[in-house]
Amino acid sequence: MDATTQEQQLNEIKNNLAAVKQRIVDTCQRIGRDPASVRLLPVTKTVPVERLRLAYAAGCLEMGENKIQEAREKSEAMSDLDIKWAVIGHLQTNKAKYLARFANEFQALDSLKVAAELDKRLQNEGRAIDVYVQVNSSGEESKFGLPPDAVRDFVKELPNYSSLRIKGLMTLAIFSSDHDRVRECFIKMRDIQAMLRQEAPAGLSFDELSMGMSGDYELAIEEGATVVRVGQAIFGKRPLPDSHYWPGLG
Ligand SMILES: *Cc1c(COP(=O)(O)O)cnc(C)c1O
Repeated sequence: MDATTQEQQLNEIKNNLAAVKQRIVDTCQRIGRDPASVRLLPVTKTVPVERLRLAYAAGCLEMGENKIQEAREKSEAMSDLDIKWAVIGHLQTNKAKYLARFANEFQALDSLKVAAELDKRLQNEGRAIDVYVQVNSSGEESKFGLPPDAVRDFVKELPNYSSLRIKGLMTLAIFSSDHDRVRECFIKMRDIQAMLRQEAPAGLSFDELSMGMSGDYELAIEEGATVVRVGQAIFGKRPLPDSHYWPGLG
C-alpha cells in the first residue's frame, strides 16, 4: 500500500467507525438507553493485517474473528499491538489450546466438551477469559449454538470450569429481510437472559447479550443487546457471500 492509499483507507475506516458509533448513540437515545451500555466489537474476518493496523490506528482496540486459525495468525502478526481478541465462531475441541493462549474472550460456547478442554488449557496457561454461551435463536440447522430449551441445563454445569468467566449469551439472528422475524430472535434471547438471571447458578453472570451485526444491530440494541458485532459496516463488503463463511447456509 502506498502512503496515499493508506491514508484513504485509514479515513474510510475512521468514517465508517464514526457512523456506526453515531447510529448506536442515536438508537440508544431514541429508546432511552445509555449509549455506554452498548459495546461495539469490530469483526475483522477476511480483513488483511495491513488494513487491521490502520483499524487499530483508527481506534479498534478489540477485534472479533470467527475462525481460530485466522485469529491466531493475525494475533501473531500484530503481537506488537495491544489488541484484545474475541473468538466469536465455533471452536473444535482440539483447537481449544490455541484459543487459550491468546484470546481475551470466547463468545461461541455451546458444548461441555469444549468447556472442559478450554478450562483445562486455560489453567495450564494460568489464565481466565470471558465466555458467552451461544444460543441458536433462529432454529436454523446451519447455525451453531444451543437450542433455547437446552440452555438452562447447560449452564448448570458451567461452575465446574473456573477459568471460564461466564458473562452472557451470544446469538446470530435469522438472516432475513423481515424485521419481525429478526426481532423475534432477539426477544427470545432477552427472555432466556431473564430466566437465567433468576435460575442460573451463583457466580455466573448473564448481564451481557451479544447480538446484532451490520444489518441488524439497531434492532438488537432495541431489544437489549449489550455487545454488537459489526464487520462489513466498518470494513466494507466481504468479497464472498456469507454462505462461504458459514458453511451450510443457504
Ligand atoms: C462475520 C460475523 C459478524 C459480523 O457480520 P457483519 O455482517 O460483517 O457485520 C458477527 N458475528 C459473527 C459470529 C460473525 O461471524
